[in-house]
Amino acid sequence: QEELFKKLISHCKEYGFIFPSSEIYDGLAAVYDYGQLGVELKNNIKRYWWDAMTKLNDNIVGIDAAIFMHPRTWEASGHVGAFNDPLIDNRDSKKRYRADVLIEEWIAKQEEKIVKEVEKAAKRFGESFSEEQFRATNGRVLELQQRIDETTERMAKSLTDNDLDGVKQIIVDLEIVCPISGTRNWTDVRQFNLMFETKMGASAEAASTIYLRPETAQGIFVNFLNVQKSGRMKIPFGIAQIGKAFRNEIVARQFIFRMKEFEQMEMQFFIAPGTELEWYEHWKQFRMRWHQALGFGEQHYKFHNHAKLAHYANAACDIEYEFPFGFKEVEGIHSRTDFDLGNHQKFSGKKIQYFDTEKGESYVPFVVETSIGVDRMFLQVMSASLKEEKLENGEERTVLAIPAPIAPVKVAVLPLVKKDGLPEMARAIINDLKFEHNCQYDEKDSIGKRYRRQDAIGTPFCITIDHQSLEDKTVTIRHRDSMTQERVSIDAVAGIIGEAVNM
Ligand code: ATP
Repeated sequence: QEELFKKLISHCKEYGFIFPSSEIYDGLAAVYDYGQLGVELKNNIKRYWWDAMTKLNDNIVGIDAAIFMHPRTWEASGHVGAFNDPLIDNRDSKKRYRADVLIEEWIAKQEEKIVKEVEKAAKRFGESFSEEQFRATNGRVLELQQRIDETTERMAKSLTDNDLDGVKQIIVDLEIVCPISGTRNWTDVRQFNLMFETKMGASAEAASTIYLRPETAQGIFVNFLNVQKSGRMKIPFGIAQIGKAFRNEIVARQFIFRMKEFEQMEMQFFIAPGTELEWYEHWKQFRMRWHQALGFGEQHYKFHNHAKLAHYANAACDIEYEFPFGFKEVEGIHSRTDFDLGNHQKFSGKKIQYFDTEKGESYVPFVVETSIGVDRMFLQVMSASLKEEKLENGEERTVLAIPAPIAPVKVAVLPLVKKDGLPEMARAIINDLKFEHNCQYDEKDSIGKRYRRQDAIGTPFCITIDHQSLEDKTVTIRHRDSMTQERVSIDAVAGIIGEAVNM
């Protein structure tokens, strides 16, 4: 799996999906640039989300708020006081870790051990094996499970109480029972705020500190009244937004999974108090269906319900996808109560309320939020799509099986030879298609090599023009996933492609 992930990173670079930022200066940690194909895929992912939220739901509208916001915003949201990561250094290895992630990784390792035990036993016992019974009775599994439960509970408590010594003690204890790093020389845990600061103003003295937004949600909250009034919106309704967010992630690894500059797609759904759990359930299911509609296989997704809730939430879960490095969060769904609007009301001194004509009363609306990272979704699509296939003739091919509606290039048009009027005919076909679809023209190398190149960038259709095309106005259309080819009339091409790329 690790090999697969390395392959994915180099594939992204080789084919122009993702490059390290400012690479000629040796790059910048956890910052990446999207290349010529990456930007197409990213735009398609954003459109898939935007349409699902704002077009399929007639009570959701979009906005595009500024990245800079009044500094008081971040006091009201709790980010100035509480948007911290607990960091710890190992003095021997000189490595820095996020204490909570270190403990979570340890827990994941113990869980893997249990899975191995289960698999071993399943093989041994064959058909009569019951996993549930095995987990409930096997001594080794019970011991591991107990350690996991104890550690999870201790961590949740220490983090909630902001007991940093307690967090450190967990790591020290884990080293003794089951080493994570092999060394014991840890510094104390300290809190590190993740917001980037900059100065706004003409001179250094007069300038005020402002922040690069660490999430897009606050731009929606501060515009609640503007949108509600100008759009005459009635509760329940939602506001959606796509935009950049910035977090000074110190322990940034795993490629674009955790970046310092990234993009979010967030939707805040405003509702009457008391209806939040119903809407929370609704959005959980809606968002899961959105993911699964891409067709990568339902078994690779799961909900992870949060036992420990953030200060603003009364219910929260993640949608996790099975990345090459395990099940990890792609999206969060949170029932945020009236925390945000209530706090903005308090900090701004402005009345932020909604008059409910049906109820005949005013209230601060409750919020259910869905929040997904564009880049993380991009990584999810790439992880699910990249395949090495062994073909019947013994050859291998690399294929990116990106669902046609979000594929960066929809169709490649390939003249079999560079003469006899075939290139001209290919160009004419592209001219007909290019207003609807992103097309590529390629006349270099053998047709087999050209097919492989298109497979590697995920192009669902290749259209080949040969001498027969000149005579009878037919072309060959090759399907990426099955590699089957069919001869069709040129007039039929637009319809075939159109049907496949529409969601
Ligand atoms: P994590 O626990 O991974 O740090 P989080 O729970 O803090 O994430 P949220 O604040 O809920 O994340 O953000 C919502 C979504 O934004 C996440 O599900 C993820 O897809 C994306 N996201 C958050 N932080 C980053 C980052 N540093 N790089 C890329 N995407 C991110």
